Amino acid sequence: MKVFKFGGASLESVERIKQVAQIVQSFPDDKLLIVISAMGKTTNELEKVAQNFYMRKREIAAQLLYNVEQQHIQVAESLLGNREHPLFQQLQQFFTEAEWTLGEKPLRAYDYYYDQLVSMGELLSTAIVSAFFNTIGLSNTWVDVRDVFRTDDNFRDANIDWAFTQKQVTEKVVPLFNQTNIVIAQGFIGSTDQNESVTLGREGSDYSAAVFANMLDAESQTIWKDVEGLKNADPKLFPNTVNIPEISYGEVIEMAYYGAQVIHPKTIKPLQNKQIPLLVKCFLDKNLPGTVIREQADVRQLPPIIVLKRNQVLLTLTSKDYAFITEDKISDIYETFHRLKVKINLMQNGAITFSCCIDHNPEKIELLIKALHNDFKISYNEALELLTVRYYQDGLLEDLSNHHTVLLEQRSKVTVQRLLKK
Ligand code: ASP
Ligand code: MG
Repeated sequence: MKVFKFGGASLESVERIKQVAQIVQSFPDDKLLIVISAMGKTTNELEKVAQNFYMRKREIAAQLLYNVEQQHIQVAESLLGNREHPLFQQLQQFFTEAEWTLGEKPLRAYDYYYDQLVSMGELLSTAIVSAFFNTIGLSNTWVDVRDVFRTDDNFRDANIDWAFTQKQVTEKVVPLFNQTNIVIAQGFIGSTDQNESVTLGREGSDYSAAVFANMLDAESQTIWKDVEGLKNADPKLFPNTVNIPEISYGEVIEMAYYGAQVIHPKTIKPLQNKQIPLLVKCFLDKNLPGTVIREQADVRQLPPIIVLKRNQVLLTLTSKDYAFITEDKISDIYETFHRLKVKINLMQNGAITFSCCIDHNPEKIELLIKALHNDFKISYNEALELLTVRYYQDGLLEDLSNHHTVLLEQRSKVTVQRLLKK
């Protein structure tokens, strides 16, 4: 059994969906569990539907939803050649459910509505791909992963109930392979025990695939992308990037942790726990070597790995009464960040100051200031970049920080991080 994951970019046009089909056709002898995300930028568009609905701009929300509907119907029509196929009824059902949600008064928290609306992207894309595959002889079974992935009700970042989900995978998904060699499921979504839809965090389909790989004891997971494989830096930000042929789980976790948008950070653990290799391959040319991620990989082969996180803020707290910022205060500060769900990307403290770098989010900063201003004087510095280089070489570091002021720096033997201001 192999697990494949295809992301939004691999489904952004009719041609690309056909390319995906060719990839799948080249594995005729394998049992494949295929996890699919929403087509192209659908998730972003559905986010706008949710925002407008919540701001009670119902007409705009309805118009945006209509656009998403039309795009999907057009793709489905191009792939299937007509509108007679039962797929169109299935799509209509998803749209009707979303329209019902838009008809409600937004009485619950925003994150709840977000999940009810945004989860539709994956339901639409998988239904279309599944129907198309069946018409071209790639016989497959479509599953609604909300009947399989049980989570808590932490909307937009739901946590999987591992035991219940394993039971569902064993009892409901495994038997499907007796009927077809291919099973198609949605990434990114799941459901609570109240049958409310949830999402697992943006870009969460990699993680969904890893959960399936773990629970099915797959021989490997492959993430099919429109790039050659994993690179040592984001090619959109840096020239002369190189492909990394092999790398360890640990290294990829670090890269993701520092902000590389390569693979969803939660993806590695379920794979590592069962020693399942993760392959990153290019669906535009499957003969390219790609990247293998596994337990052991030779670090001596690694180029310097560069991660740049933009739009950072340096927040500095100074204790008003000159009380030292030691363990007890730090624990209070962390408690506040934790409660407000603000992630600290880098931190440093002195006698009466605590500095940290966080993503720019004006609402969260306001809440932090509200919560902490009694004890601390708070200042902040915006529009910064957090540069992380692993296996750094000094010349390179200077080149990358050129024309910038370094506001904060941390170095270990392997990693250097610099908070930069232009
Ligand atoms: N469609 C979701 C997103 O764009 C999940 C994913 O792509 O992995 O965030
Ligand atoms: Mg996506």
